[in-house]
Amino acid sequence: MANRTITLSDGLYDYLLDVSLREPDVLRRLREETAKIPAAAMQIAPEQGQFMALLVEVMGARNAIEVGTFTGYSSLSVALALPPGGRLVTCDENEEWTAVARRYWADAGVADRIDLRLGPALETLDGLVADGQAGSFDFAFIDADKKTYDAYYERILTLLRPGGLVGVDNVLWNGSVIDASRQDEATRAIRAFNEKIHADPRVSLSLVPIGDGLTLARKRP
Ligand code: CA
Repeated sequence: MANRTITLSDGLYDYLLDVSLREPDVLRRLREETAKIPAAAMQIAPEQGQFMALLVEVMGARNAIEVGTFTGYSSLSVALALPPGGRLVTCDENEEWTAVARRYWADAGVADRIDLRLGPALETLDGLVADGQAGSFDFAFIDADKKTYDAYYERILTLLRPGGLVGVDNVLWNGSVIDASRQDEATRAIRAFNEKIHADPRVSLSLVPIGDGLTLARKRP
């Protein structure tokens, strides 16, 4: 026994899913359809979707926002966890991927809770701030182009209410963060973001080694 985060063998990962995953059929079908497209690795893992849904429930979140819709797995996970009257704003630029997302949101009966904003996410986020929505979101998830993480984070921090929570995905970047030979823009941006948020007094945080690494940061009141 050790108190360090355990390494998950394939068998242990399967066991984790066997004894904890409660993936609704509509999410399972979305995951299977997404697995067939070349960018499939951009989809979050099902246990991460369930974890984020649990966070939304624990917080009693009503207003959520997401940067990076892709085919809609995370948005659907979150939207299904929102109470009646809850809403999720989700930003993406890709019409093909978000067309898949829209189909499954409708299948799941939550299309009316999800407000998809097609276009550059920074413009959408700045527009929400300009529209007086600063401080109005309970929960946020950032999972889009890595070089823009810091700019997304700053906008999201403005849009979160005090006590609101943001999840930032891929912060371990498949281990590239500790590989000195990896000096591409995305990897450098993730390293810089991780170092910045570690020292950011505006938030409380935890880096959770689920999926590809998920940093959770709560905006301090
Ligand atoms: Ca991701």
